[in-house]
Amino acid sequence: MARIAAAQISHETNVFSATPTGIAEFEASGLFLGPAIVDEMRASNTEFGGFIASAPAEGFDLIPIVAVWATPSGLVTGDAMRHMAGILETGLRDALAAGPLDGVLLALHGSMVSAVDPDGDGYLLERVRAIVGPDVPVVSTLDLHANVSQRMVAAADILVGYDTYPHVDMAERGEEACRLLGRLVRGEARPATAIRKPPMLPTSQRMTTDRMPMRALIDRAHQFEEDPRVLAVTISGGFPPADVPEAGVSIIVTTNDDPPLAASLADDLARLAWDLRDGFLGGVTSWDDASAMIRAMDSDLPGAGPLVLVDIADNPWTGGPGDSAELVRFLLANRAPNAAVAIVRDPETVAAAVAAGPGATIHVLLGGKTDSLHGPSLPVRAYVRALTDGKFVNDGPMMAGVHVDLGPTAVLSVQSEHGDEPPVDVLVTTRAETPIDLMIFRAHGIEPTRRRVLGLKGKGHFRAAFEPISRRVVLVEGPGITGSDLSRLAFRRLRRPIWPLDADAVFPAH
Ligand SMILES: [Zn+2]
Repeated sequence: MARIAAAQISHETNVFSATPTGIAEFEASGLFLGPAIVDEMRASNTEFGGFIASAPAEGFDLIPIVAVWATPSGLVTGDAMRHMAGILETGLRDALAAGPLDGVLLALHGSMVSAVDPDGDGYLLERVRAIVGPDVPVVSTLDLHANVSQRMVAAADILVGYDTYPHVDMAERGEEACRLLGRLVRGEARPATAIRKPPMLPTSQRMTTDRMPMRALIDRAHQFEEDPRVLAVTISGGFPPADVPEAGVSIIVTTNDDPPLAASLADDLARLAWDLRDGFLGGVTSWDDASAMIRAMDSDLPGAGPLVLVDIADNPWTGGPGDSAELVRFLLANRAPNAAVAIVRDPETVAAAVAAGPGATIHVLLGGKTDSLHGPSLPVRAYVRALTDGKFVNDGPMMAGVHVDLGPTAVLSVQSEHGDEPPVDVLVTTRAETPIDLMIFRAHGIEPTRRRVLGLKGKGHFRAAFEPISRRVVLVEGPGITGSDLSRLAFRRLRRPIWPLDADAVFPAH
């Protein structure tokens, strides 16, 4: 059996978030050590789920070290970074003390920014390489929103990015990473990698992989992967609010010992991405048009499924605080019928609801408390329908089997202070999470398929579960740090010029 160390350290960092990401934030989302990782992740649609499933076929004796992630949020603190890197390094040294290691499997995000090193993933890969030495193969998975750096490419043998957004292929990519590592362990392949970074910084509202332009890029990547000389091809869309020089689109091609082929295929894909760039723009509906859609619902037939309205500017999984109340304000102002919203993060309001108890009516200022970038608090009269611990298990398709913890949560039926509009049911949570699964409503006694309007916060992941039940999906953009309007963000470290911010961005750069 080949001895393979495995670890996941994953964070997508929005440096414009007012909430730094410390070790407490990682522990609240998930931190598992050693064999507990296998118990937690076996048969889940996650990278580790894929590692565990494929290890026996490759003859791997998996040595799980750490699996830790946090909901996207602000800069990862120095303490958190040193703590997580320390667990990983100690685990690797302990594994080496017990015998030689044959390989390392990692699940990284690729857009982590830390106070120790802005290239958090490059830093971790270099630490791993320093411990295991140049001859032990290291293969890592990456998110489709990775900002891939030259340092990451140099320190890893192969990087395997997700092919899907919504990310429904985490386990599949974990399995692919396992198979590729198996070839390296057996000495069947010698990776030669090229990375290309066209000067492009698209936002993700039109990055979903079932539509252009990502569909065309992923299709061509898969076509290239059919060539037996090619080991792996990754198209990464990037993550703008990390504000690092490497932010934006990355193309990574790894061939078997054929650097010129890797370079020419990567050039081809970079050119295609650049040529299709305008397809990443737009996709957001104005609030006025969204109002008109709600008014038009009066004449709709029932049973067609909910209108799904998604505010992309306060998306917790892009680092939004989750406490914008703009969607609730909009639904009340437009007298939306039978509407439910997930989520507004507001621990103060949850505490008020808990103190009053189920069945009580409370008067609160909802949301808008984290910073001044996500709109003001909304004064509401709220009937406390239910109180929960905010815990449930995802049903799929994305991250099926994964435990979610919103913290103490109140289901409030809210109306404006003296209004007579139809109430809007709001999941008011203690922690910020992006709704990606119907269970977020069902666990709180709300059947999403029977609602006329669902208000969500997200960018693309919600589509996996919510698009099939919807009559229509409409993206809107309230105030916030996660939207499509990059001119709202005061970039400091980003490389310039870059499309679409700078008219003078050209490709190839000279
Ligand atoms: Zn992603």
